[in-house]
Amino acid sequence: MRPLYHVACASRYYNIGMGYTTLFCDLDDTLYPASTGLWQAIKERMNVYMHERLGIPWEEIPHLREAYFTQYGTTLRGLKAHHGVDEQDFLAFVHDLPLERYLKPDPQLRQVLQSLPLRKWVLTNSDVNHARRVLRFLELEECFEGIIDILQLAPYCKPQPEAFTIAMRLAGEDHPERCVLIDDLPRTVEAARRFGWFAILYGVEGPHPAASATLNDWGKLPMLLNQHNGRDAC
Ligand SMILES: [Mg+2]
Repeated sequence: MRPLYHVACASRYYNIGMGYTTLFCDLDDTLYPASTGLWQAIKERMNVYMHERLGIPWEEIPHLREAYFTQYGTTLRGLKAHHGVDEQDFLAFVHDLPLERYLKPDPQLRQVLQSLPLRKWVLTNSDVNHARRVLRFLELEECFEGIIDILQLAPYCKPQPEAFTIAMRLAGEDHPERCVLIDDLPRTVEAARRFGWFAILYGVEGPHPAASATLNDWGKLPMLLNQHNGRDAC
């Protein structure tokens, strides 16, 4: 079992708040690992939607998804622009999955999040209904001040800087340098770093050119933030 940093180093954790005040956490493939297969299942539901609802041939879907993701930030935004897709219908369809097959409570992550004296927000290009369900299955609901989702970020989404501006406004945070982001997508992390946030790439070991830092074990987050603040690691 991993050490419970919040117990061993509780007095030092207060120091984290001296520099950072707001922590934004991505949802999919960040608050739960990619190995659960949930995000992959969501992407497969997107493919089914594009084929069954929009009549797009299977062989064209991977290329279109990649093109929309690159140009618009999400598949949904591309489908809205080119196919007039109703976002509520799309989001309900792609997230219609039995989460109990993929997720289970994560008490260690809950302890880590609760040990950090930061205001914590979920910041996701998904929608609030999916985010609430995921947090419920992970038993992390009470760890966050709230959820900032794709509908609140509209017409923008991560990694657009306007999305970071909206997130700060909704979180009541005026200072980019006091914000931390944890996300599994390098392009989002790089954009956040350029925006002035301390941007952590999740799921990667060692330095990464896009990121302020990397993290592949949530248990090490308090130590990482302490180190960045120039304090001794726990
Ligand atoms: Mg993600």
